[in-house]
Amino acid sequence: HKYVYDFAEGNKELKDLLGGKGANLAEMTNLGLPVPPGFTITTEACKAYLATGREPDGLAAQIEAHLESLEREMGRRLGDPQDPLLVSVRSGAKFSMPGMMETVLNVGLNDRSVVGLSAQAGGNDRFAWDSYRRLIQMFGKTVCDVPGEEFEHALEEAKRAKGTKNDLDLDADDLRGLVDGYKKIFAEHTGREFPQEPREQLDLAIRAVFESWNAERAVVYRRQERIPADLGTAVNVVSMVFGNLGPDSGTGVAFTRDPASGAQGIYGDYLANAQGEDVVAGIRNTVPLQELEQLDKKSYDELLGFMARLEEHYKDLCDIEFTIERGKLWMLQTRVGKRTAAAAFVIAGQLVDEGLIDPDEALHRVNGAQLAQLMFPRFRLDHEFRPVAKGIGASPGAASGKVVFTSARAVELAAEGESVILVRRETNPDDLNGMIASKGILTSRGGKTSHAAVVARGMGKTCVSGADELDVNIPAKKFTVAGQTVNEGDIVSIDGTTGKVYLGEVPVMPSEVVQYFEGSLDPEHVDNALVRAVHRIMTHADAKRRLAVRTNADTGADAARARRFGAEGIGLCRTEHMFLGDRRELVERLILARTDDERQSALAALLPLQREDFVEIFREMDGLPVTVRLIDPPLHEFLPPLEQLAVNVAVAQERGEDVAKEEALLAAVRRMHEENPMLGLRGVRLGLVIPGLFAMQVRAIAEAAVAVTRDGAVAKPEIMVPLVGAVQELETVRAEAEKIIAEVVADSGVEVLIGTMIEVPRAALTAGEIAEAAQFFSFGTNDLTQMAWGFSRDDVEGAFFWRYLELGIFGISPFESIDRDGVGRLVRIAAEEGRAARPELKLGVCGEHGGDPDSVHFFHEVGLDYVSCSPFRVPVARLEAGRAVV
Ligand code: ADP
Ligand code: MG
Ligand code: MG
Repeated sequence: HKYVYDFAEGNKELKDLLGGKGANLAEMTNLGLPVPPGFTITTEACKAYLATGREPDGLAAQIEAHLESLEREMGRRLGDPQDPLLVSVRSGAKFSMPGMMETVLNVGLNDRSVVGLSAQAGGNDRFAWDSYRRLIQMFGKTVCDVPGEEFEHALEEAKRAKGTKNDLDLDADDLRGLVDGYKKIFAEHTGREFPQEPREQLDLAIRAVFESWNAERAVVYRRQERIPADLGTAVNVVSMVFGNLGPDSGTGVAFTRDPASGAQGIYGDYLANAQGEDVVAGIRNTVPLQELEQLDKKSYDELLGFMARLEEHYKDLCDIEFTIERGKLWMLQTRVGKRTAAAAFVIAGQLVDEGLIDPDEALHRVNGAQLAQLMFPRFRLDHEFRPVAKGIGASPGAASGKVVFTSARAVELAAEGESVILVRRETNPDDLNGMIASKGILTSRGGKTSHAAVVARGMGKTCVSGADELDVNIPAKKFTVAGQTVNEGDIVSIDGTTGKVYLGEVPVMPSEVVQYFEGSLDPEHVDNALVRAVHRIMTHADAKRRLAVRTNADTGADAARARRFGAEGIGLCRTEHMFLGDRRELVERLILARTDDERQSALAALLPLQREDFVEIFREMDGLPVTVRLIDPPLHEFLPPLEQLAVNVAVAQERGEDVAKEEALLAAVRRMHEENPMLGLRGVRLGLVIPGLFAMQVRAIAEAAVAVTRDGAVAKPEIMVPLVGAVQELETVRAEAEKIIAEVVADSGVEVLIGTMIEVPRAALTAGEIAEAAQFFSFGTNDLTQMAWGFSRDDVEGAFFWRYLELGIFGISPFESIDRDGVGRLVRIAAEEGRAARPELKLGVCGEHGGDPDSVHFFHEVGLDYVSCSPFRVPVARLEAGRAVV
């Protein structure tokens, strides 16, 4: 079994085996870039070690062989007292886990080789002892679990004694003294002397890197980032190069483009006379990479050349670690770099322009989640606002409001029409009502999978979690931050994308990308790289995609906006809002009707109102299909709540008032009260039980279509019957509807389709039969999810989903992204059997999943014709539908 690869033996495709760092070191080596020689121990070896608790057979011998050949190549032996070879031992998993695992530099130094190292460096004692003290520090901390502060305190103490804050002021003697101190700390904590044998140092460091895979923070990080727990890490053994040899040496990081904006140029930081981690550790101030040009023009030019090579090779933004040793440039790491959503679009566009990738590949490089981020409203920060704290951007958006500290207060203030921000240490299921009532949620604890974060994302609420600079005092109703006290009622603003917290109300504005979708920024003429890139990529996605994208809209205004966002019809027009407001009274009359006449007169009053609603929508959607869902929720939702009504009646009776009407209403509400309304008298069941209700709606739709057609527009109504479980239900509704349609439409040329939602599992399982009576199916994946899992969304999301996510029972809430294996299987069965029975059957989806990137890919795979989602998700769905093809 081959466990060890020389850099020359690997390549960038071998990330599973060699980890990201090892694979890319190999790639750079084979490109001829100056990488210090070394070898990689595979993730297989790590997995074997973690499974058995010991190094697998043959590993030691292979390491020995590779070390020997490295020593031959370098002309030095590991830890040799006269002329030592030193190495770094670096972790590196398949997916980058920044700062989660460990690296040890300068392995091979001991009391004797430190002298040899000094000689090697031309008698540079300071450098040699500095390197040695770093080894003891890193080795002690990572390999032997010595608390890192102990070493830091000793270093601080040495600097204090010297009267300086800069470690460069410590001379060779100071550092030799520090090494002694470090060795004592090491011995105290481990019960043994610092190991002097170089090979033992190496073996222990390798083992420590293996074990760091299961360090607690690495485990937590993987769970959060959904990185599988069983990949293991590779170990890279790399001969050391030294940036701490003097002012002509140094170390730095570089990006081939700006990872924040995507702009081309030179981005990075450089630190002279420093080793490895000093750059990120912030010990001394780094200088912008551009300044390297003055310090060392030759290395600078060479670095720029390598960066261009790497970009051309990886065809993407790369980030780089490098070190300069006495004017000689060494490349220590590269990878395709992380970037912001804006940079992802801009860079993908640039790379197409540069001919490095084609437009299909550009589509791969961006995603709907990034586009959604670019569509959230922005704070207008052209003011004097400065953040007072920064937490985790747990759920994007920009929200301002009055601070409240309890769920009850949030509900109270919201009822008065105030915008509120709920501030808690962390939230729990009791806070749910407060979270619903708030514009945003701010917590001082918890990460991306905390209760607050998960629930807020599910609700689409802005949330900043884990803002630990906040000192939250719930009983006192205040928090302090940056020396200021914020009381209940004070206004704060939170940015759920950046995690930043501001005091006061920061004004908001639509993002540029939304302005573009709205049509107020012309991509051809605006000088905005992001807008131009989004426009290009969207245009390509539209050209590629097979799925059509419709919107869920109930009003003309929503329909118009969605159309500007690219919607190609309405996939779900809910009719229930048409029964609210002043129309409630008519609904009450309908419900209380004792005779056919009373009922007919209530329906007759509703008819023209509904017709007007449809006329408006059909006009806005001129030429595009509009799917109208007949009324779905249980009727008591339109009546006053039982408790309130009962109290009113009792009070009125007490006063001796005439309560005949209220009593009748109360009786009706009692009669209609349902234990589980989600599974009660709703959807098609209403249509079958309440004579004339669906007929009125069908008539309103057909009449509106005819009216709009007469005005010269094209109406394409599709009547959708909700909650069908058996074909007989649909057939009954359909027979009545067809009669009315025939009568109304006559020879106007209007064509009305009749179809059904598939949202009850039985409908999915008998889709073949149902298709005989339906011209289209629209999957109502919200209800289908509730009914397939047997839980109601309102009851479970706040109550226990966080726990299910924590336990990994769900990777993501099944309401956010379709559960492919369960709910998705029902969709697949219904699509296949429906199409088998009726090949021209139109298939769509109108649950919220229609705007979720992963779900869109699934619906594409299953062969649906369209997805439908809220207006703001339309661009996301268009992009993802394109990505599903390429
Ligand atoms: P991380 O994955 O946390 O970035 P690395 O393994 O890349 O850890 O190493 C930490 C630091 O040490 C980096 O700055 C890296 O460039 C530096 N480093 C690693 N190996 C060597 C080496 N052989 N010579 C000089 N510097 C090194
Ligand atoms: Mg690194
Ligand atoms: Mg439904």
